[in-house]
Amino acid sequence: MEDTAPATTPRDPDRPELGDAGRSREGAAGDPPDIRLSGLTKRYGDVVAVDAVELEIARGEFFTLLGPSGSGKTTTLRMIAGFEVPDAGGVELAGRDVTALAPYDREVNTVFQDYALFPHMSVADNVEYGLRVRKTSRAERERRRTDALDMVRLSGYASRKPSELSGGQRQRVALARAIVNRPRVLLLDEPLGALDLKLREQMQVELKGIQGEVGITFVYVTHDQEEALTMSDRVAVMNEGRIEQIGEPAAVYERPSNRFVSGFVGVSNVLERGGRRFTVRPEKVRLIESGEGTDGLQVERGRIRDVSYAGMMTRYLVELEAGGELQVVRQNLETSSAEALEQRGREVTIGWRAEHTVAMKEDGGGREESSNEDEGER
Ligand code: ADP
Ligand code: MG
Repeated sequence: MEDTAPATTPRDPDRPELGDAGRSREGAAGDPPDIRLSGLTKRYGDVVAVDAVELEIARGEFFTLLGPSGSGKTTTLRMIAGFEVPDAGGVELAGRDVTALAPYDREVNTVFQDYALFPHMSVADNVEYGLRVRKTSRAERERRRTDALDMVRLSGYASRKPSELSGGQRQRVALARAIVNRPRVLLLDEPLGALDLKLREQMQVELKGIQGEVGITFVYVTHDQEEALTMSDRVAVMNEGRIEQIGEPAAVYERPSNRFVSGFVGVSNVLERGGRRFTVRPEKVRLIESGEGTDGLQVERGRIRDVSYAGMMTRYLVELEAGGELQVVRQNLETSSAEALEQRGREVTIGWRAEHTVAMKEDGGGREESSNEDEGER
């Protein structure tokens, strides 16, 4: 349809090299990656919604775009799906340039946050819809629909209308409707965003299970860091249209490449000592009891400025004598809420291991960092 496949923009020399992190693990080994984005850019007037994004996603990966609202996640997904035409750069699916193809010519399906079910159709008809459009035989349609509804545990609901389902069930119908088409890639835009926390956590586990079962490549969008860390094989952290860091969940959490990632994927906890700036995760900082050994720990004195009791754990905000403050999280193994709250105002000693710190440069907007400078202070 479009005859103007945009050219790939040359790399901005001021942009960090993502190095191997931008490349999927299996991608190099022969088969092309399922998705390759090169220099992908989209502008709306003065806003650069997506800014020269480079990305490779391997076959069967559960890949998450994580970032705050407005960071360009949805726009990226819409360009992969073909709903949006990039201003520059391109999209490849399994080695084929699809930048100029219409959405229905791409082996991609999308699950939207609002489910976008047809309200007047039954669950069965909703799920079969894509197969009908493609003139799949009736027997095949029924077989695939039954399989898909089994997979999302809605076998008994085929004749219901969407209005007769709960939010979680509707979400499952939307998922069944997408996987029934057996797309190569499934794009999911905050699919659990409308669900309450309990259901969301349950659906996270189910979704991950289903993805493993069907072997479809998932590109998942969320602003929820815990969701991203729980579900993904790899995560790309986005900010203002750019990718700040790509990596496995543990790497992104434990070795954030800059202050933005550190603060968005957790609590930023940045200190400056002797001209060096570093971050340390709250669960790696201990409140040291009197008489307790401090071998191998970096120790500092401070005062507990604030306490918030959260049932399973308590968060302490400690103002340090040497300047700055750290959030410290402690599991409530023996501590009661009263004991935790009594700590407010107390002078304390805290400590952490040097290998749990990550060096951090200041980052105006958080992007002139290289992800290679994140070796802990050893
Ligand atoms: P996210 O999904 O991460 O919240 P989006 O991709 O929706 O972010 O938006 C990225 C930026 O592009 C935002 O600043 C948003 O306001 C802008 N934007 C997105 N879609 C449009 C549009 N159709 N028209 C104008 N601006 C848009
Ligand atoms: Mg969005």
